This record gives sequence, C-alpha cells and structure tokens, in this order.
Amino acid sequence: MRQQVRILGVPIDIITEEETFQKLVSFLDAEGEALKKIYTPNPEIVMVAQQDPELLKALEDADLVLPDGIGLLIASKLKGFGLKERVTGIDTMDKLLTYCGEQGKSIFLLGGKPGTAEIACKNMGNKYRGLKIAGFHHGYFQEMDEVEIVEGINKAQPDVLFVCLGAPKQEKWVNKYKHQLHCRLAMGVGGSVDIYAGTAKRAPVIFQKTGLEWFYRLAKEPWRIKRMMALPKFLIDVLRKQ
Ligand code: UDP
Repeated sequence: MRQQVRILGVPIDIITEEETFQKLVSFLDAEGEALKKIYTPNPEIVMVAQQDPELLKALEDADLVLPDGIGLLIASKLKGFGLKERVTGIDTMDKLLTYCGEQGKSIFLLGGKPGTAEIACKNMGNKYRGLKIAGFHHGYFQEMDEVEIVEGINKAQPDVLFVCLGAPKQEKWVNKYKHQLHCRLAMGVGGSVDIYAGTAKRAPVIFQKTGLEWFYRLAKEPWRIKRMMALPKFLIDVLRKQ
C-alpha cells in the first residue's frame, strides 16, 4: 500500500531507498500499464508547487514522489510526518541504471546542454555493464519541436526515460506527454545529466552523509542563493501552517 504525506499541500511518498528500488523494478516488469512517473522534489520545489497548479498537478499525478532534500526530513522530524529516510534522485538513478544493465534494459536521456547528454550516455554505457542506450536529446528545444522529440523517444523504444530539464520544467513536460510516451517509466532527475557527463560534481560523501550537500552546492554555485532561500521559508511555513 502506498503511503503518502502532504507537506504544505504537496504529496510526498513515505518510502525507503530499498522500497523505492523494489517499486521501480515492479514498474519496469509490469507489462501493458500506463507510463509510471517518478519525481524527486526538494523543499524548494514544494514551495514552488504551492504557487504553481500545473506543477502540483504533475506531482499529484505521479506514481512516486521521492523525498529528496534534507529539508523534507527535518520538517518530518519536527512535525512527525513519518518520512523514513531521504531518497535522492541521483542514488535512485544509479540503482536503476545498475538494474537496467543487469536486465539488458534500455534508457533514453533527455536534457542538458547540447552535447552533454551524449557524453553522459557514453559514460553510463561504460559504467553500467549491459545497459542499452536507446538515445539522447539535449534539453534546449522549442515547444514546436516537442512532438518530434516524443516521436524520437518512442521510436527508440527505451524502457526508461530520464528527463533532465530542471524542476519544475521536467515534471510539467512528463505530465504533458504522459499519454504519448510509450516507455515503462519516466523519471525527472534534474542536473544528473551534468553529473554523469562530468560537467558537474556531486558533493563529497561527507557532505552527503551529513545532509550538507546543499551547502557544498551553494559554495560551488553561489548564484543559487536566491533559490536556496526557499529552505528557511519552507521550514518556517511548515512550523506555522501545518
Ligand atoms: N536544462 C535543460 N533545458 C532547460 C533548462 C535546463 O535541459 O530548458 C538542464 C540544464 O542544462 C541542467 C538541468 O536541466 O542540466 C537542470 O539542472 P539543475 O541543476 O538546475 O536542476 P535541479 O537538479 O536543481 O532541478
């Protein structure tokens, strides 16, 4: 049974990393079912979703909404929401890619600057033995090109579509085309394309383990300060409103 909690009105799954993996495997194995949609919001996105009905609709329509972002876990501790642990998009993607490799399944990577998805796919192909790369496409397209992109994805017949257009664009894009996309699952994974391409680095493990990945990212990309100011506001709103 799926368990969810609404944090500031936004549904988040109460789930562990292991349970997430099992669920993804069951999604992949289920034949003839509708596209499964997986997103990994952090507090910043929860804040955006309150003002953005299209994003909220996409999250409400998702099959899995993973609690990425330490702020969600802090909120859960403060208010007893029952979240079990942080489940990050990038770690989930890593497990899923390993499994896809073992099972000979294929992926399509959509997003990133021109050239980045191609390098990311090449690196994934080297890292995950058996993984099939069905295709890739950069993420800087016009709306009028979208139908062609969807057709290209369907023609490539991937099992899994990773969408790296940044949030909230990727969630809205998947939701817009959910009935046209013919893969088993689509997952919004933001800047992961840059990490796989090697153009961005993940925070060192010590930052990951201490829940300070956001701090590392801020130090590397100080322009994110405006976006990250959503975190204290998120916690204040949770304390006040929920
Ligand atoms: N991106 C894209 N198309 C766009 C806007 C962004 O493909 O129209 C890509 C961008 O190049 C980057 C990713 O989306 O690779 C978003 O990265 P970011 O780290 O900002 O996303 P987050 O993980 O914070 O959602």
